[in-house]
Amino acid sequence: MLLTAGRLSKVLQLTLAVIKPDAVAHPLMMEALHQRILDNKFVVVRCKDLVWRKQDSERFYAEHSGRFFYQRLVEFMSSGPMRAYILAREDAIRHWRELMGPTKVFRARYTSPESIRAQFGLTDTRNTTHGSDSVESAKREIGFFFPDFSVDEWMEKEEPSFRSGR
Ligand code: UDP
Repeated sequence: MLLTAGRLSKVLQLTLAVIKPDAVAHPLMMEALHQRILDNKFVVVRCKDLVWRKQDSERFYAEHSGRFFYQRLVEFMSSGPMRAYILAREDAIRHWRELMGPTKVFRARYTSPESIRAQFGLTDTRNTTHGSDSVESAKREIGFFFPDFSVDEWMEKEEPSFRSGR
C-alpha cells in the first residue's frame, strides 16, 4: 500500500467486473457499459466472454445458498453469455461498486439514479453487473474467472509503472 504524508494516496487495485447475461443480450447496453468502464479511467487488464454451467453458478454464489433468490440467481447466471473483466485503477473495487450502484434495482433508482443498475437493471436478480466487494474477494473471484492469471505477479510487475506513470 502506498502512503503519502499519513494519507492514503493512489492505491492501485484490481477488481473483477462481470456483465451479466441480461445486459450481454443487448448489444447497445454492452457498448454503453464498456464505454462506462473506459470513461471511468479503468484499465482493462483482461476481458473474456464465457457461459457458465449451472454448477459454476452454484459454486460462485455458494454463500447465498438457501436464500430465497438463490435458485433464481443460479438459473439466471447460467442462462447465457457473460463478459468478465479484470479492471485496474486506484481504488478500483470501491469505484466499480459505486458505478454499479446498490444490488436492488428499485433502491438504486432512488438513491443512485446515475448508476449502472439504476439505468439498465431490470430486476433485483437481473441487475446487469457484478463487482468484487473486497481485496480478498477480488483475488478469489479473479482466480475463479481467470485461473491462469496471478494477481500477485501482475501487481509486482505493473504496480511500479502505474505509480510512476511510465
Ligand atoms: N440478488 C437477488 N435478490 C436479492 C439480492 C441479490 O436476486 O434480494 C442477486 C443479484 O443478482 C445480486 C446477487 O444476487 O447481484 C448477489 O447478491 P449480493 O448481495 O452479493 O449483491 P452484489 O454484491 O451483487 O451487489
